[in-house]
Amino acid sequence: MIRADHTQDESFLTARCLATPRTAAGEPPANEEVTTKTYLLKTGELVLKRGNRAMFEKILFRNLAAMLKGSGAQIICKDGRFFVRCRESACAAVEDVLPRLAGITGWAAARVTGKDKNALLQICVDEALFCFERGARSFKIETRRTDKSFPLSSYEINCAAGDAITAALPSFKVDVHTPDAVISVEIREKTFVYSNANKGLRGLPAGTAGRGMLLLSGGIDSPVAGFLMALRGMSLSAVYFHAYPYTPDEAKQKVITLAALLRRYTINLRLFVVSFTAIEQRIKTAAPPQWGTVLLRMAMMECASALALRNKCKCLITGESLAQVASQTVENIACTESKAAFPVFRPLIGMDKEEITQKSIKIGTYQTSILQYADCCTLFSPEHPILHADLSEALSIYDSLDLAELLKTALDTCETIKS
Ligand code: ATP
Ligand code: MG
Repeated sequence: MIRADHTQDESFLTARCLATPRTAAGEPPANEEVTTKTYLLKTGELVLKRGNRAMFEKILFRNLAAMLKGSGAQIICKDGRFFVRCRESACAAVEDVLPRLAGITGWAAARVTGKDKNALLQICVDEALFCFERGARSFKIETRRTDKSFPLSSYEINCAAGDAITAALPSFKVDVHTPDAVISVEIREKTFVYSNANKGLRGLPAGTAGRGMLLLSGGIDSPVAGFLMALRGMSLSAVYFHAYPYTPDEAKQKVITLAALLRRYTINLRLFVVSFTAIEQRIKTAAPPQWGTVLLRMAMMECASALALRNKCKCLITGESLAQVASQTVENIACTESKAAFPVFRPLIGMDKEEITQKSIKIGTYQTSILQYADCCTLFSPEHPILHADLSEALSIYDSLDLAELLKTALDTCETIKS
């Protein structure tokens, strides 16, 4: 269960992602482990959103709460900073979620104390020891003082913390240019000290930029395309065109796995599986062979557009990359696009295969994408595909195929896979 309270006068959002039963007073049972850890999250682009910032923060908060569901962690948002507090036993779950959270530029486990100068210097020394024990031999202090009533300036805090650390650990040297460890101090409603913050995914929280329909095949490219749009704040629906028995059920299962992997970055992804067997057979039997792939892509676009309309999507997303294969020359893309009823986003259009592959390794879809099962496109692809299709010719052959009834049946029988 997730409970979110928004107390407006404090601009304070907080939620507890309950994992364990609690007492009526909301306290954990007496014998429960109580050591807590605090993570501090940095939001980057959100800060630029001015009037919409509260909405962006609310969605980020909701996404984080959904991703941490069942962990027992508590989420706090105050003055544009997000904090996650959890028991030691939930740290692994929290550290699994934060690198997958779109909309944050960085995160770190922080030491927390009040605004007493000696307590502040003590946690700086503790953090320095932590860094030193992990091999760092030089450090730098960076202070941000949001609370201007604190008696020391940022510069004075840097100096005092530096002195305290070198007194406690004489072989840990100050290096303001290329330090092994950057120890950050933030003075807010409390004092937070952390080092070497982890990089976040950046981008915008999923769900802040409308919903798009991703054409998800089993290849390397389309999952990466979906990921990149999710990172721009887009919620995703996905469609896979299946051609059983020409493409085996393992190919469909592979796409279901890819959708589940994408769901790790964007919540509420719904996958539609549309049977394209009859449409592929019609193209194969009634169209000139060299036109096969282009016509198939046009049919996919038409079908995906209808599905997008039904599911309140505002654009289509593909993994196309200019001239990667015959169907992706500029002329052939123009033919494909002619059947799209929505803007088509192609985030990979200018990327080469190596770049896309590296990205897919990074987001964890590569190993699934390279599993070898026949895809409907490769299976039906002609030996000599047309490279620079003429749009009016493409449209007239497409019309002659009379696919409307087959497309309607494909849509009416489409399968929905939620998780
Ligand atoms: P690969 O990594 O092998 O290039 P791919 O998925 O990009 O895989 P392409 O033949 O390049 O395959 O297809 C271009 C785009 O068309 C895909 O990125 C995808 O968006 C869409 N597409 C192709 N086949 C299907 C399919 N069976 N179902 C849904 N979308 C598809
Ligand atoms: Mg491709």
